[in-house]
Amino acid sequence: MTQETGGFAAFNLNPNILSAVIATGYEEPSAIQQQSIPIIMAGHDMIGQAQTGTGKTAAFALPILHRIDPAKREPQALILAPTRELALQVATAFETYAKQMPGVTVVAVYGGAPMGPQLKAIRNGAQIVVATPGRLCDHLRRDEKVLSTVNHLVLDEADEMLKLGFMDDLEVIFKALPPTRQTVLFSATLPQSIRAIAERHLRDPQHVKIQTKTQTVTAIEQAHLLVHADQKTSAVLSLLEVEDFDALIMFVRTKQATLDLASALEAKGYKAAALNGDIAQNQRERVIDSLKDGRLDIVVATDVAARGLDVPRITHVFNVDMPYDPESYVHRIGRTGRAGREGRALLLVTPRERRMLQVIERVTGQKVAEVRLPDAQAVLDARIKKLTNSLTPLVADAESTHGDLLDRLIADIGCSPRALAAALLRKATNGQALTLAAIERDRPLVPNSAPRERSERSGDRPDRGDRERRAPVPLAEGRARCRTALGARDGIAAKNLLGAILNEGGLAREAIGRIQVRDSFSLVELPEAGLEGLLAKLKDTRVAGKQLKLRRYRED
Ligand code: AMP
Repeated sequence: MTQETGGFAAFNLNPNILSAVIATGYEEPSAIQQQSIPIIMAGHDMIGQAQTGTGKTAAFALPILHRIDPAKREPQALILAPTRELALQVATAFETYAKQMPGVTVVAVYGGAPMGPQLKAIRNGAQIVVATPGRLCDHLRRDEKVLSTVNHLVLDEADEMLKLGFMDDLEVIFKALPPTRQTVLFSATLPQSIRAIAERHLRDPQHVKIQTKTQTVTAIEQAHLLVHADQKTSAVLSLLEVEDFDALIMFVRTKQATLDLASALEAKGYKAAALNGDIAQNQRERVIDSLKDGRLDIVVATDVAARGLDVPRITHVFNVDMPYDPESYVHRIGRTGRAGREGRALLLVTPRERRMLQVIERVTGQKVAEVRLPDAQAVLDARIKKLTNSLTPLVADAESTHGDLLDRLIADIGCSPRALAAALLRKATNGQALTLAAIERDRPLVPNSAPRERSERSGDRPDRGDRERRAPVPLAEGRARCRTALGARDGIAAKNLLGAILNEGGLAREAIGRIQVRDSFSLVELPEAGLEGLLAKLKDTRVAGKQLKLRRYRED
């Protein structure tokens, strides 16, 4: 165990939970975790004011797991979430933290999926039920006793649940739970309606709020870019092409992410290294010295490992993963703009994290402008500029050193000087894309300005369609977006995907919407109705010799 995990060890969580947390690579608890975990572990009711990105899921999941009895095969904790996406995300988080707790199972209960298997999983003794309120009420109508053993309730994103009109459903659920249960409520905002719920249904709750002081950030130009979580690495690589940086620090959340990103950067030829809490102190110092003297240009670090790092060469900070709170954002970006120099800070924001961005803007009193990924033309211009810069100094005397060789090669090969120069360029640029079309093909897909997840209601209650939130590129009514990991680099073109889906899926051409082929993946719009059946039909379909493995595409 490293020194940094001492933060989690101090909670005295069940050792199986602690070792699962350590295995995720978290180095220390976030502020909301630091404050909430002891309160929930002690069995108190609690109101936590926190939004996505603060680490709030682990703030309740870890102590709840600690409090359940794995030997009892019955529902013990119920987590309510406003959307199916959040419910799935929370269920996955529970599964991760419960990985080393034998016998603990988690079930996600949400609209748009068959009810039977959900009910069966509950009856089979899943201790953790993560549900959207609408679907849970449907279950309660079938079996009003289904929640009678639950003694921990968490309302996650309570304000969002009310916005989506779940107030009545919540009341039905409260009634179905034992009154002696522990109740924890998390909400980004605490409007009167939420306070009223707390008043009626929580007992002597303790309040946890991450205090945010106004912070000043000067001489640092800040920007943010909307991006899906799985596109961060390619977005970072695109940004690096056009940013004029000297040295750069990138912040991520886990040790594994420092290693993954640093090696992706090294593979593209950047002088990059990882810095995390597992790396021995003397090695960390070596990394920092290398960044200082230019042997390294990029360091990918966790917040813990970057503590005290002061390198005047740093011109840029990339917040690849969102910081937990505005203070640590300010702290991170303060790594640039040292010694009165100008700095630039970029923040990658996934669709679910936009609230956190607003909090950062409020606390710093500054707008963090939105930027888009550089377009293909900008990338091409930047690449050509770099090539020009690297060749210009050679032109002055290369003819005297290599001119004779050039004449001989032209004669031996029997080609024109232009053909030979082009061949040498191809070799020198090592297969790098230097045409608009090739760059365009490699670019990641990035959400437009207002991507939002869908409300769980839209799946099973079309009459509440007005609550449906928007997807990245607006989808036509009744369509779902699906993703395959096959892309242009696998030799796939849109027509191959279309042909395979038409043949194997037995669909009419009009049933298939937009097909977008990118380098490492593709997106296809398919009919929402009967989607599960269609995906099952396409389960073994192969395209260009590879398994298609089409899945519903989630925004983040
Ligand atoms: P949440 O605010 O719960 O949506 O969490 C946001 C992200 O932070 C998730 O990807 C978590 O896996 C991650 N996370 C939560 N707690 C920590 C921690 N203590 N250290 C590093 N990452 C964390």
